[in-house]
Amino acid sequence: MLTKLFINGNWEDALSGKTFPTINPATTEVIAHIAEGGAEDVDRAVQAARAALDGPWGKMNAAERAKIIWKMGERIMARADELAKLETMDNGKTITESSRIDVPYSADLYFYYAGAATKLEGHTIPVNGPYFCYTLREPLGVVGLIVPWNFPLLLASRKVAAALAAGNTVILKPAAQTPLTAIALAEIGMEAGLPPGVLNVVPGHGATAGAALVKHPGVDGVALTGGTATGQQLMRDASNTVKKLHLELGGKSPNIVFADADLEAAAKMALMGIFYNKGEVCTAGSRLLVEKSIYDNFIEKVIERAKKMQPGDPMDPKARLGPLVSAAQLENVKKYVALGEQEGARLLVGGRQPEAAPVKGYFFQPTIFDQVQPDSTIAQEEIFGPVLATLTFQDGDELLKIANGTMYGLAAAIWTKDIKKAHRLAKEIKAGTVWINTYNNYDAAMPYGGYKMSGFGVESGMAAFEFYSQSKSVWVDLS
Ligand code: NAD
Repeated sequence: MLTKLFINGNWEDALSGKTFPTINPATTEVIAHIAEGGAEDVDRAVQAARAALDGPWGKMNAAERAKIIWKMGERIMARADELAKLETMDNGKTITESSRIDVPYSADLYFYYAGAATKLEGHTIPVNGPYFCYTLREPLGVVGLIVPWNFPLLLASRKVAAALAAGNTVILKPAAQTPLTAIALAEIGMEAGLPPGVLNVVPGHGATAGAALVKHPGVDGVALTGGTATGQQLMRDASNTVKKLHLELGGKSPNIVFADADLEAAAKMALMGIFYNKGEVCTAGSRLLVEKSIYDNFIEKVIERAKKMQPGDPMDPKARLGPLVSAAQLENVKKYVALGEQEGARLLVGGRQPEAAPVKGYFFQPTIFDQVQPDSTIAQEEIFGPVLATLTFQDGDELLKIANGTMYGLAAAIWTKDIKKAHRLAKEIKAGTVWINTYNNYDAAMPYGGYKMSGFGVESGMAAFEFYSQSKSVWVDLS
């Protein structure tokens, strides 16, 4: 298994000689020891990326770049089984999710951005005076891409594919918990024909490798998917070099069920909204807001389904809920469950580790609270685990107040058959994505980003080029 840093097309040890273990959360065993990138390794990667930008990659036209990016998608699909297993082993998500979602959706991003690479255009602009004016869309330059552990390959690919399409060179820093598929991605880039230095992968910790990328004067921009506190730290660290940032941060998304909804569908998707990927999803529907008149009937449906959804060995194709990613994340989830009980919420289902897990690991039962106060900790803070906070509402005003009443604004869902009500509310909710009668849909073509403290900037779709490219205005005197 590849475990080294990938810098300038070569597999390298860290200059410090340090390594860190990556752990299988289903067994708690060490999978591999990974070279631990530090500031000096980031510096080497930045130099390689700059040379590639000034050299072969910068000189390539968009159509040539597009062919390589397309091939990366093909290579991902050719290695789909291996990548899905790596992802499940490293993160704990079920093999069904890795193979049906993470891997093919990652490949799709390369297919989409291969096409997009040749569609980046400037404009001609009429101005006052005898001038011919036009804009050029140019790459941002050398970009640092910092990703979390919940969708390691998919979230890396969202950034890498768009960055390459716009002509940038990249230093990718995966999360220390889940570096394996990012390392495989370096190999895939090489197989597809990326010149050395275009995609460098430097696994390591946030406070060292990550911070070094953000502070490095040779890095033109950094895109982060991570927690809100990390985003705040990045803004401070990036200020010295006035670095362009793109931040995809946390969420506490309301999943709103009206009395006139298709309740079977809403119940099924309420579970998917919170328990998909063990709740380690930035857009998790972690606040279920149910209209009071149907609450008892609806919550019964949700509870019944949740009880059937016990954690199991994620490598088993029948498993629906894997272990949490790490011991630290398990502790975090336990802390919030205890807080929920202390604050007076009622525990309806779960709340602890399963007594008879099939394997030793960081498993946690699907957990549902109700009688949750809108301003309580478990209704306000992101838990990032399989814990659902259920609240009720009586009318539209109360609903909006609760739905918009957190610091986050990443996503929301609305379940109703009243199409006017759905569209009205979609407009009033302060979130970057609103799903109507569905949940957790993504597409390479569809812009995705947060409002409020869920971040700024958009990824996926052509909108991602706002970050990955810059506009140059050119004036020509015609007098
Ligand atoms: P995290 O913020 O701890 O880490 C994310 C990445 O940032 C990791 O690679 C980490 O090493 C790096 N990092 C940490 N501190 C850093 C620093 N000071 N400088 C530079 N890099 C640093 O988050 P996590 O625990 O890995 O992931 C969970 C968080 O990510 C949750 O809050 C979740 O909501 C968020 N997330 C958001 C989205 C989204 O699209 N908005 C998607 C997935 C996850």
